[in-house]
Amino acid sequence: LFITFEGGDGSGKSTQSRLLTDWLTGVGHTVLHAREPGGTELGLELREIILHRRGYIAPRAEALLYAADRAHNIATTVRPAIERGEIVIQDRYLDSSVAYQGAGRVLDGTEIRDISLWAAEGLLPDLTVLLDLPPEAGRERITATGSTTYDRLEEEKNEFHQRVRDSFLALAAAEPERFIVIDATLPIETIAASIQTRVERLLA
Ligand code: C5P
Repeated sequence: LFITFEGGDGSGKSTQSRLLTDWLTGVGHTVLHAREPGGTELGLELREIILHRRGYIAPRAEALLYAADRAHNIATTVRPAIERGEIVIQDRYLDSSVAYQGAGRVLDGTEIRDISLWAAEGLLPDLTVLLDLPPEAGRERITATGSTTYDRLEEEKNEFHQRVRDSFLALAAAEPERFIVIDATLPIETIAASIQTRVERLLA
């Protein structure tokens, strides 16, 4: 079983994916918590380049760096775990690429999806949790938590993040069986409970 968490920056993906991991582990499942970009050793080096290298990176180069991170993560971490029968819960996956590199950087979303699927040898999630949040609210949360590391995305204007949000919502609308869309302004426990209910259904 492969469950992904998607959403804008500051939408609470890591909090919620950790809560789901802990809950599933608590009820007896073997769960691997994974993330992109940077879920492997190679991925951490790529993440450093993608997010912390100062200076311009051409959008197509950036898209391919994310795809390289994904290819390695899926081949060496995610797929083996799924084959061992484990549940994999991952922060960000191909929908992030369509939203950020496609809508955000204004590349063709279909091409970005195709590149992602090629990188991941066609692996699609069984369920994708979209934590939907207005970009201004995400920005406020990040500022409030005092994240100080240089991040190229923090330089982007609100319009960029608005395109990303709209793209996530369009992806969810196009695949309603795969997605659950949650209002990320709700309390943490309320969100966690809706996710658990949906996952319980998937496991039944
Ligand atoms: O989710 P996380 O905070 O680790 O993501 C790091 C940064 O990379 C974020 O600012 C996110 O917006 C960006 N990102 C991206 N394209 C992706 C995945 C992440 O621009 N495909």
